[in-house]
Amino acid sequence: MQALRKTRPASGLELVDVPAPAMDASTTDVLVKVSAAGICGSDLHVDDWTPSYAFIAQSIPVTIGHEFVGVAQAGPLAGRRVVVRPSVTCGVCAACSAGHHDGCERRRGIGMTRDGAFAPWVRVPLRNCVPVPDSLSDELAALTEPLTISMQALRIAGDVLGRRVLVMGPGTIGQGIAALARRAGAAQVVVSGFDDAARFDALRRMGFDALVDVAKQSLAEGVGAHTGGEPFDIVFEATGVPETITEALALLRRNGVVVVTGIHSRPLALDLTPLVRNQQQLRGSFRPPESDWPLALALMGEMDAVLRPMVSHVLPLSLAAEGFALAHGKLASKVLLKPEPGDE
Ligand SMILES: [Zn+2]
Ligand SMILES: [Zn+2]
Repeated sequence: MQALRKTRPASGLELVDVPAPAMDASTTDVLVKVSAAGICGSDLHVDDWTPSYAFIAQSIPVTIGHEFVGVAQAGPLAGRRVVVRPSVTCGVCAACSAGHHDGCERRRGIGMTRDGAFAPWVRVPLRNCVPVPDSLSDELAALTEPLTISMQALRIAGDVLGRRVLVMGPGTIGQGIAALARRAGAAQVVVSGFDDAARFDALRRMGFDALVDVAKQSLAEGVGAHTGGEPFDIVFEATGVPETITEALALLRRNGVVVVTGIHSRPLALDLTPLVRNQQQLRGSFRPPESDWPLALALMGEMDAVLRPMVSHVLPLSLAAEGFALAHGKLASKVLLKPEPGDE
């Protein structure tokens, strides 16, 4: 089969011919026939080989792709459409043995440290599969993983009802956060980005018009036009650019909260005195509990029309290089790759 792989610890990805995953009687894994898989910001980092993703070096060669929907081929979910949690727990540590898989610290990542879904077939643990309601399209279902990341960011932020919210970073995570914050009753949602026309276009179609392009004006000036200079109650960082934290704190009210979701490839030098004096809270947000996955699918059903514009491009897997070029060049919102019969 064709598979998009990291084959060397250096920049670049290769679409190569590899054997389909082997299955044997001893495994509780199931084979999933991939319907669609999204290109994530972290896939771009793996492609570029930025330091924060060098941890996958031990697993090379590896097929990437971790945001996907497909059809389970065997087991209790045979024939069902499923989305798959990419984080695979070890099953044997103290937390896993006690049934608390959310506490596992020995994880592997589908599409990072074990083969992923930019291929027609992927082998995954049965317990990672979550059935998809029939009413949800493949395109939307492929957004489940990033939506769970956005859900976790909202949880970490606390109550957003009546709050003024800034989302820094208009990518998939930021788009999801904006949509969920509005749904949860935020008084105002402003989204900032840097030269992000395609992702701003998706946000406009999702009904957001308070958008600030910091390539054209300063952040303070741009957001001021929407807020009248009032500070934000909550700022979500979804840029992966460390310096945006400094900017976020400058726009945050006393006792306000900054939620950091980006994976940052560099450290940040930060003057903590204003943070202390203003009692501002800086909080990290990463992986949601497993129990969020069915909730995310239900939410997507409710928010179908709002979330649909997030996917801007659907390309065959054979055009993976074009898809990555669109994503790297910020010419797309979310790009999905679909394997075709000829790829098998
Ligand atoms: Zn992702
Ligand atoms: Zn474990």
